[in-house]
Amino acid sequence: MRNIQSLDQTYVAGTYARFPVEIVSGKGSEVYDTNGKRYIDMGSGIGVTAFGISDEEWVAAVTEQLGKVQHMSNLYYTEPCAKLAQLLCERTGMKKVFFANSGAEANECAIKVARKYAAEKKGAEYYHIITLQNSFHGRTLTTLAATGQEHYHELFQPLTPGFLHAPAGDLQAVKDLIKQYKTAAILFECVQGEGGVIAMDPAFVQGLARIATEQDILLMVDEVQTGNGRSGQLYAYMNYGIQPDVVTTAKGLGGGLPIGAALLSEKVQSVLGYGDHGSTFGGNPVACAGAVNILQRIDDGLLAQVQEKSAYIFNAFSDADGVESVSGMGLMIGIKTKRPAGEIVKACMENGVLCLTAKDKVRLLPALNIPMSVLQEAVEIIKDACAHA
Ligand SMILES: *Cc1c(COP(=O)(O)O)cnc(C)c1O
Repeated sequence: MRNIQSLDQTYVAGTYARFPVEIVSGKGSEVYDTNGKRYIDMGSGIGVTAFGISDEEWVAAVTEQLGKVQHMSNLYYTEPCAKLAQLLCERTGMKKVFFANSGAEANECAIKVARKYAAEKKGAEYYHIITLQNSFHGRTLTTLAATGQEHYHELFQPLTPGFLHAPAGDLQAVKDLIKQYKTAAILFECVQGEGGVIAMDPAFVQGLARIATEQDILLMVDEVQTGNGRSGQLYAYMNYGIQPDVVTTAKGLGGGLPIGAALLSEKVQSVLGYGDHGSTFGGNPVACAGAVNILQRIDDGLLAQVQEKSAYIFNAFSDADGVESVSGMGLMIGIKTKRPAGEIVKACMENGVLCLTAKDKVRLLPALNIPMSVLQEAVEIIKDACAHA
């Protein structure tokens, strides 16, 4: 293992502060390091492995497709891509899907749709996109510009122009920006993930939807982290009684393979035409075959279990020792602890639980199907770490 760690440090670009742990295998919500030590996985690869590690049904779907065709250019039709698009549309009421390979790329597509829609409908000067302060939309230069956190911007100027950041929850600020700047779209997360697992207020989200409709501005929801069952509904916007014009998603959709998708409503379904956008790997048949399996299994029964486990976690931490507050939605949970979050994560790791952080919080994104007994075991270990100074 030492060898792998030093190899990695020598040859992999130093963009990640890795823990001194090498994971070699796993099953469901349990993973093992090189020493055979078991960990309960409460991060699921940042909300990616929706049904856990090496899930049998997902592996079968992916390997079956691998044995047929692993990749085709987008010059030809392949079944998994078409089927996944159909499933996504049928379950959301959206009309068309563009496939990419990541969350940032899904958002890039949404931004292109907004720019083109507004340019054609109102004029090219209507290019501004309003996002929220403390948001996270990705690491490409354009999605960094969309991200409402200055510290990500500093070293990479100039970013793509045209992005404005309003304080979350402040409808008047959004209205003022729209008055001042010719606006194409509003892009936001229903629950800010990287920003600290903060759920938006329903009145604010419904207000954004109302403003967007009144002014013919596109309502675009970034469901990269909140999507695919994570919030307790298939997509988090469904908890808010709104109908977005564009929904972007990625992370959990592929169950562990790279995929991103921008879902387009009736209003914008024809904005992108031949040659307007593309991606070599977009709609890859193996990634899509896995995603079809994932999406089919996120049914009412599973969503009810997500809600039940969510209530259990909220309850367990709401008045636990060393815990100041619990935030989030579904199985996307932030815990504000008295001890620094980093210390809690380290203590949990020593005791066999892998957790994440988001800003100053401990963040939990377990697999949607984590068994209740395994979840309880992890919660006890995390509670213990919170309670001990
Ligand atoms: C992770 C994330 C992204 C970026 O996704 P990548 O796949 O890393 O490009 C964008 N938006 C939100 C809300 C995210 O959580």
